[in-house]
Amino acid sequence: MPERDLVSCNAMIDGYGKSGKCELAEQVFRSMNKKDVVTWTSMVSAYVFNHRPKEALGLFREILNVGIRPDAPALVSVLSAIADLGFVDEGKWVHTYISTNKIKLSSGFIASALIDMYAKCGHIENAYHVFKQVSHYKNVGDWNCMISGLSMHGLGHQALEVFLDMKTKEIKPDEITFLGLLNACSHEGLVEEGKFCFKLMQEKYKIIPTIQHYGCIIDLLGRGGQLDDAVEIVQNMPMEADVIVWKAILSACVQNGDFAVGESAALKAIELAPEDSSCYILLSNIYAKVGRWDDVRKVRLMMKRRGVRKIPGSSSILVNGKVHEFLVGKEMDVKCNVEVLSKIEEVVSRLKLEGYKPDLTQVLLDIEEENKESSLTLHSEKMALAFGLINTSNGAPIHIVKNLRVCCDCHSFIKLVSRVYNCRVVVRDQNRFHCFENGSCSCKDFW
Ligand SMILES: [Zn+2]
Ligand SMILES: [Zn+2]
Repeated sequence: MPERDLVSCNAMIDGYGKSGKCELAEQVFRSMNKKDVVTWTSMVSAYVFNHRPKEALGLFREILNVGIRPDAPALVSVLSAIADLGFVDEGKWVHTYISTNKIKLSSGFIASALIDMYAKCGHIENAYHVFKQVSHYKNVGDWNCMISGLSMHGLGHQALEVFLDMKTKEIKPDEITFLGLLNACSHEGLVEEGKFCFKLMQEKYKIIPTIQHYGCIIDLLGRGGQLDDAVEIVQNMPMEADVIVWKAILSACVQNGDFAVGESAALKAIELAPEDSSCYILLSNIYAKVGRWDDVRKVRLMMKRRGVRKIPGSSSILVNGKVHEFLVGKEMDVKCNVEVLSKIEEVVSRLKLEGYKPDLTQVLLDIEEENKESSLTLHSEKMALAFGLINTSNGAPIHIVKNLRVCCDCHSFIKLVSRVYNCRVVVRDQNRFHCFENGSCSCKDFW
């Protein structure tokens, strides 16, 4: 293949990947008989960009097998795929590859990618270790990754400490730094600190808040019980509120039982994102809480008419190097179905002796289910946990990755399991990490 063709094919893979046409990128990739490191890297990035982390990781292994030395962008891409999957062993393997091949952490964005990967895989200490090795380079991206990693782990105070350290080292924070900080404050309920950061970014650093910053501060105030202030910000924002802002208000209303504001926020959110099932579900939850069953039915009908479907909850767990995925209401791998279900039954009855009461209010969210208690036991994280209890030897921590937020029932269920079965369970949900140990969770029930 002439040099020119190689370059144009590489560009095609890159272009298809970035425009969401992953299959076309694959076709070009497979049809090429000569590939260089850019070809491989572009294909790995295309998989990552299109949320296909398993394929990205598989292709990365192929790069090593054919004896090509991956470049920094390939390493960054594969680390981001691993972060997505959430399983640290693969990440440690890539980290070892980087060290043994004497690839500098400061080249490309490798340090940032490693910090991000360790944080997203639940190993915040390792993230911090990498961060300490590179912090003297004063690369703001590394600091930002560290702050958002701490935020995801509910370590708001530590995130603020890293920020203060930036100041002493004279590193200028940017808008991403403040997004991380606001999130960190929100996850740990640090309302005053969050308000201070929001003010500081505008007054001292002259950063104009984007809609994402507004979303964070509104979420922070809403969770912190300052709903009136949150609503005031929405009214005075220089831009139109988006669906994220309305959902933050809506969640705060569900939490505080503010019916009227919640209803109007839900209707606004539905207007902006008619395909997003979570808004309908929260609205129906608000109605159910005050016993307006007619309205609950209306919301249900509206969802049906518009063909809105709930995103099914799914949880993955890594056992003996293999990822097992569980989908709400059913088990993916039929073989272990019976075993998992009977384990859940056994766990439920043992927990009931310890005072576990299934939280049936959570089923209101699950509007299509008839049999309330049994539908609760089929939540994907409970199935993954049961599978973990069967297949993990005593003492080994159980790592679960969930695509949605953990519900209140599963949360108290896993807390009890960690005490009764004396095990450590780490769950990464859509927003953050939960480390369950001795009957309590690292999020202090604030998530
Ligand atoms: Zn649940
Ligand atoms: Zn928790």
